[in-house]
Amino acid sequence: MTASSPEAPLAQRLAAVHHQIAEAAAEAGRDPAGVTLIAVAKTFPAEAVAEALAAGQRHFGENRVQEGMAKYPALRERHPDLVLHLIGPLQTNKVKQAVAHFDVIHTVDRESLAQELAKEFGKSGRRLPCFVQVNTGEEPQKAGCAPRDADAFIATCRALDLPIVGLMCIPPADEEPAPHFALLNKIAKRNGLTQLSMGMSGDFDTAVMLGATHVRVGSAIFGGRSYAPAA
Ligand SMILES: *Cc1c(COP(=O)(O)O)cnc(C)c1O
Repeated sequence: MTASSPEAPLAQRLAAVHHQIAEAAAEAGRDPAGVTLIAVAKTFPAEAVAEALAAGQRHFGENRVQEGMAKYPALRERHPDLVLHLIGPLQTNKVKQAVAHFDVIHTVDRESLAQELAKEFGKSGRRLPCFVQVNTGEEPQKAGCAPRDADAFIATCRALDLPIVGLMCIPPADEEPAPHFALLNKIAKRNGLTQLSMGMSGDFDTAVMLGATHVRVGSAIFGGRSYAPAA
């Protein structure tokens, strides 16, 4: 591991994460430009996001709609190229706000949500790229469609004309992530999907080796969180 210490300045930690992505990409014979680093800023204040913006970071992730709405409008005025990713579970009654405030949705995982998103894209004229979340570990407490239902669910989303660009997963915390990343890659390939949102602070290099196009990294950039919002 080449990640710098938690006391290092944010810009330095960000550079260390980029370095690790480049090393993993090189090892896998991939172009590091094919990996988008999403800085997950949940629980951290707008000032921390501003610091990351100053260091050149543009993609950010939040797992709560409310937190995204509160933190980013002012930052976007100064940085219109900021890209905000919703990486947490989305309730159908928050779809309207999510579509208005976010740029990419990583957590499409059930038909009722797919329908609501399709409706809101039609109404608002904002058609956001979407990832289907797959619960690769089949954990009952976790969001995401079951791996065996993924092909049918992707077809359902396509029939609703949702712009599905790829798949997303959060492997079980107590298991080797690699088989989960490999499974996600396999499901994506057989469905003709090219983007994979996988890998967090502890395993993003493994994810890059296994084809991640989007890694979602929080604590390795912003430091430890005082509480962990529900995934
Ligand atoms: C919090 C979170 C992350 C980032 O986790 P770290 O371990 O802090 O890098 C990534 N993905 C999702 C869905 C999250 O909720």
